[in-house]
Amino acid sequence: MTEPERALLEVRGLRVDYGRGRRRSTAVDAVDLDVGPGETLALVGESGSGKSTIGNAVLGLVPIAAGTVTFQGEDVGRAPARRRRELTAQLQAVFQDPYGSLNSMRTIRQTLVEPLIAHRRAVPSTGGTSRPADPASARSQVEAALHSVGLDPDAADRYPGEFSGGQRQRIAVARALMLRPRLIVCDEPTSALDLSVQAQVLNLLTTLQRDLGLSYLFITHDLAIIRHVAHRVAVLHRGRVVETGPVRKVCDEPEDPYTQALLAAAPVPDPVAQRERREARAAALAGQR
Ligand code: ADP
Ligand code: MG
Repeated sequence: MTEPERALLEVRGLRVDYGRGRRRSTAVDAVDLDVGPGETLALVGESGSGKSTIGNAVLGLVPIAAGTVTFQGEDVGRAPARRRRELTAQLQAVFQDPYGSLNSMRTIRQTLVEPLIAHRRAVPSTGGTSRPADPASARSQVEAALHSVGLDPDAADRYPGEFSGGQRQRIAVARALMLRPRLIVCDEPTSALDLSVQAQVLNLLTTLQRDLGLSYLFITHDLAIIRHVAHRVAVLHRGRVVETGPVRKVCDEPEDPYTQALLAAAPVPDPVAQRERREARAAALAGQR
């Protein structure tokens, strides 16, 4: 079955609950999303709106209460275990925290080789430690991944503590590239970084997308960056998508009052524009009542 128009990632009717029984609460509900090949979909919303929950559901890290996550036309949740592993190899993640997301006791090489071992492109040795099946090939893959994120090959034998926050995020991106994914879930990948470093990491992601044809589900609370990275945007409010569309359309002519309020609250360099937006927001909200 070939459908060229088909999205690489399709989320339909997604619901995720946390807790059990009387403590159960629904974090996201009725969420539909599409990410096409080579496309970036920004998922925006306030803290607690359910962005990470959706990312984690896509990655199979939290159980899905209802709905489906379809990747390359296959239902990830219902695929047999072996097939699911193959599919999820092509679905990788970069998280916010460049300090917590790398194991400080492992060299960069050990960290980058881990996904190869986990996905059985490598075999465990008899000595109890895991080694790649083909050390020469693993070595060249590590060097290629470091090169593609702009780091020298000698970074491989160093430890995370020797790198800056921006460099660690580059290493996290390199790790995500090891299995040659088609889509990377980026969950606030630059939120912990200084502004100048943020721009460098965002540029890196854009370059990698162009060179490798990657798709991104780009999760952020920072509306200031979505124009630079995203093609389309989905706005999340209290666990539901309230508006989806091309990034310019949603940013310049938001239709949903929540999107309007969110944009009005985002810092704008120009104070006059900020005031005009606030007034437009107040008017929009007044019109709703
Ligand atoms: P965001 O990433 O947009 O900040 P999250 O997806 O982290 O939002 O959280 C959405 C909602 O789910 C919040 O109300 C949060 O408190 C709740 N939540 C997130 N993770 C858990 C968890 N592991 N257990 C219980 N509740 C959670
Ligand atoms: Mg989050």
